[in-house]
Parts: sequence; structure tokens; C-alpha cells
Amino acid sequence: MRIGIIGQGLAGTALAWQSHWAGHDVAIFDRGLKESASWVAAGLINPLVLRRKRLIKDASEHLAHMQSFYRRVEGEIGTTLFYPGPIHEILSDAQAEEDWKDLRLQREFESFLGQPQSLCHPRILGKSQASVVGSKRLRVPHYLMESRGFFKRHHSLEEVEVQSIERIEDGGLILNSTWKLDALLIAEGYPGKWTEKFFGALPFSPSRGEGLRVTWEGEEIPYALHENIFLLPDGDGSYQAGSTYSWDALSGPPSESAKEELLEKLRSWFDQPVEVLDQWHGIRPNMSDRQPRWAWHPSLERLGFLNGLGSRGALTSPWLSEKLLAGLKTSS
Ligand SMILES: Cc1cc2nc3c(=O)[nH]c(=O)nc-3n(C[C@H](O)[C@H](O)[C@H](O)COP(=O)(O)OP(=O)(O)OC[C@H]3O[C@@H](n4cnc5c(N)ncnc54)[C@H](O)[C@@H]3O)c2cc1C
Repeated sequence: MRIGIIGQGLAGTALAWQSHWAGHDVAIFDRGLKESASWVAAGLINPLVLRRKRLIKDASEHLAHMQSFYRRVEGEIGTTLFYPGPIHEILSDAQAEEDWKDLRLQREFESFLGQPQSLCHPRILGKSQASVVGSKRLRVPHYLMESRGFFKRHHSLEEVEVQSIERIEDGGLILNSTWKLDALLIAEGYPGKWTEKFFGALPFSPSRGEGLRVTWEGEEIPYALHENIFLLPDGDGSYQAGSTYSWDALSGPPSESAKEELLEKLRSWFDQPVEVLDQWHGIRPNMSDRQPRWAWHPSLERLGFLNGLGSRGALTSPWLSEKLLAGLKTSS
């Protein structure tokens, strides 16, 4: 079956791999705007909402599917997709350490929270740090680029904007009056123009995130750290510091206020002068209830979509794409 996929962000890429593994012929259509959410995603794979100390829905299932999915992709493209180490939470004082230990005693958290241990850098202001067991950081641009290369070589990938979708007699679909498909998966992120056209309005509640790329003279940080923001080593002496959350002004260039907010938060636990190299921003495709959406069309039975991955696309896209593909009707 020839399956078309609109979008090659985290959602579309996961759908493309699932379609490939199911033995289908895959045709990806992506307009290739590097500022889409996936290209700025920090790549954190974290079952825990660190600020609120709660687990995301179906955390264990997402982690299990994520691990086998990326391992299989690594095998296909022959490269490692992850930065070293799990995420570590900085425990600022004795109270924060006690709270963490108390949380570890709760059954639902015990397998996700590591033991407090000594701080990994002399300039961190805090009592101790502890790992989030099972957390990782995906090298997102690397994953997207390597996957792109694979699908260009073994299937097809068109760098175009999809401007028309027409239904044809045999139940198939034609994109841009050119490409004939047996099935179509829409993974266009925010805004969901084609998804909403076919499936009705989605409860989008997008949030803007900004972050900084920073560097410093002195000892390096070996893995992802979090207190009130994340500090993430890119492995080349530079670090991502982010990110902000704003639901108001979604568009516009990087703002001075976001930069100040991030630097102030960083200074509150990392007593190391940093140089800002760059500032980036993007829009998270959140839904108002923070739950992703995916479905097959009630009458166009081979038209499906996946959207609303919010701030967890790297963790949730493997299992959600598998669940969507499992519902594809291959015979009519
Ligand atoms: C600042 C920030 C930090 C983040 N950090 C993390 C993180 O650490 N971990 C994590 O898991 N997630 C993170 N996220 C969230 C993550 O980016 C999203 O969950 C994910 O990228 C959504 O992927 P998507 O494929 O649904 O959408 P997108 O990434 O938006 O991809 C959609 C793709 O479809 C293409 N497209 C749309 N319409 C068309 C069309 N008509 N024709 C052709 N192509 C089309 C777009 O060009 C784009 O390439 C972060 C997001 C932001 C903004």
C-alpha cells in the first residue's frame, strides 16, 4: 500500500518508520520549514513533569515503546540517536531533598526516581542531584535528518507544501493534483489546517517556548540538568538553556524579556558566568487538556492524523504512531 504522510516532524517521522516496518511504500511531503516545533525541540524524553512532580499518562508504556522504537531506528540508520546520561534534577536544599525522598516512597514513582547523589559541577548551587530513571535526550535534528535521508533513498520524500487533497473513485487520494496515494496520514503540527478541514476543530492551546544557546569557560556539565529550567550539553562546549512558556504572543522574534527570564532562572542555581551565543523559539502543539489526538476518518477510512504532541513528542510519538498504524484498514 502506498501511504502518504504530510509533515516530517516528530509525528510524521515516527509514522513513516511504522509504515516502513509494516511493509508499505512511504511518500513523505514536507514543506521543510526549519522553524517547525520539532526542529527546535530540546529532545528531552522524560516521563515525569518535573515542575509539578507528577507522571505523564501511560508513562511506562510510552517509555517501553520509545526504547524499542529508537533502538530499531538506530539499527536502520547505523548511528546513535541519544546524548549521554539521564536527566538529573537539582535538589536545591534539604527540604527539596526530603521531598524527593518522600516521592520515591510512593509506589507509582519509585521506579522513576533515582537516589540523591553529590552535585556534578562545582558551580551548581544546591544540596544534591538525582536522576530521572529512564529519561533520555534525543538528538532531534540528527534523528530527523538521518530519517529524511533514509526515506529519500528507500521511499520518496517531496519538499513541497500540500495545497490540495482530493478523493478519488477507488477510495484513494491525490495530493496537489499529482501524487496518488492509497492512504494518507496528516502529521502537520500546529496549526492543523488539513486536520481541522477533515476532522473538525481541535482544542489547540499552543504555547511559545524560547531558549538560549550558551557557553562558558570552565568545567563542563556531562548530562542534562533541571531545576527551574533545563541546562543541556550539546557535546561541543555549548549548552541549551530553556525554555519559557507563553500562551499570548505566539509570533514575533526572540524577546529580550524571555532572555532575561532564562538567565535569571539559570543564575538562581548555576553560579557560573555564561556567554549567550544564540536565542531560539518555537510553538508547542499543545491541546487544552494536554492529551494528544489521533484518529481515522469516519467515512474516508484511509485518512488519519496524529497531532497535539505538546512538549512530549520525542517520548510519545513512537507509541502513538504505532497505535494509529494498527488501525489502518489494508483491505476494503
Ligand atoms: C521550545 C520547545 C522545546 C521543546 N522541547 C521538547 C523536548 O525537550 N522534548 C519533546 O519531546 N518535545 C519538545 N518540544 C515539543 C515538540 O517540539 C513537539 O511535541 C513536536 O515537535 C511536534 O511534532 P509534530 O510532528 O506534531 O509537529 P511539527 O514539528 O510542527 O511538524 C510538522 C511538520 O509538518 C510540516 N507541514 C505542515 N503542514 C504542511 C503542509 N501543508 N505541507 C507540507 N508540510 C507541512 C511542517 O513543515 C513540519 O515540518 C518542544 C517544543 C518547543 C517549541
